[in-house]
Amino acid sequence: MAHQQSELANRINRMLKRLPHFSVQALLILDMSNIRYLSGFTGSDGALFIGQGRRVLLVDGRYITQAKEETSGIEVLEYQEKIEGITNVLSHHPSLTVGFEATTVTVDTYTRLKNRLEKITLKPLPEEIKAIRAVKTAVEIAKIETAADIASRALVSVLARIRVGMTEREIAADLDSAMMQCGAEAVAFPTIVASGKSSAWPHARPGLRKIQAGDVMMIDCGAVFEGYHSDETCTFVIGRADSKQKDVYQVVKEAHDSALKAIRAGISCHEIDRIARSCIEEHGFGEFFSHGTGHGVGLDVHEFPRIAATFKNILEAGMVVTVEPGVYIPDLWGIRIEDLVLVKEGGPAVLSKIPKKFKVLEI
Ligand code: ZN
Ligand code: ZN
Repeated sequence: MAHQQSELANRINRMLKRLPHFSVQALLILDMSNIRYLSGFTGSDGALFIGQGRRVLLVDGRYITQAKEETSGIEVLEYQEKIEGITNVLSHHPSLTVGFEATTVTVDTYTRLKNRLEKITLKPLPEEIKAIRAVKTAVEIAKIETAADIASRALVSVLARIRVGMTEREIAADLDSAMMQCGAEAVAFPTIVASGKSSAWPHARPGLRKIQAGDVMMIDCGAVFEGYHSDETCTFVIGRADSKQKDVYQVVKEAHDSALKAIRAGISCHEIDRIARSCIEEHGFGEFFSHGTGHGVGLDVHEFPRIAATFKNILEAGMVVTVEPGVYIPDLWGIRIEDLVLVKEGGPAVLSKIPKKFKVLEI
């Protein structure tokens, strides 16, 4: 616990050191994952003010006891109404420039705060504020690896129970329950089980379609362990595979493997995306790879950085990202292969556990 508290204090200190870089004197944090990261508070609503020698966590009545227990070295105050609570704290510090998360704060919240705090300058901070969570400590990496292990074990157990005639929704429900029984505190996102044509939708919802022999089946799942997420996609063929399924799988696998192998500290996100994408393009399927190659994973399942053509940021040791190229052929099927990867100085360490070789599920 003491160790955890010092890790939290370090995070706030690191954040305070970045204030001049953002040209602000204090921060108002409203993103709940950022609040958890900086304070340890795990509730679903609140606000955190840091700067000017103050560290204040504002919560409503439901969370006051929890917030006091989960944090240390932070003033915990209760509000009846959030904007009013924030106004009360900020009005003690006139003439400040206060940074806030531009991607979290709504126009409504911003306008109401601005109207009540005339002397304070509210400054929207770019997406890079999210970069504070991108490099993980050993403690965080261990939690993500545990989450990955839970999801992988649960999926392996569910695969043995899949039979022709089961619906996607039944398989998804079985997988969610298996993740909880394996130790997950929650599922990381709505589990995707997509078979046949619906696997051609990268983010299909599990439906009532019954699994048939010859289907492509894509399963994308993740677990949450102590707040940290995992994310892994396996694509299988049910019963028997045709040659096109095998061929496209090998293309996606080659793209996945070459991007994965290239991961190391110092390489840029768009370079990893280019490696995966050019491999799929060379085989003539470029138009069917309709999303980025990956994303950071941590307290949120999608977080900084993005591994995409437009993202120039450099990977650093300690970042945890996915590598998930896919080919989705409309009205036919889709194949995605996704692993969760820790970026190290010399290369990648794969945290998700299921081997990604082409597999026909015997049913
Ligand atoms: Zn996924
Ligand atoms: Zn993902």
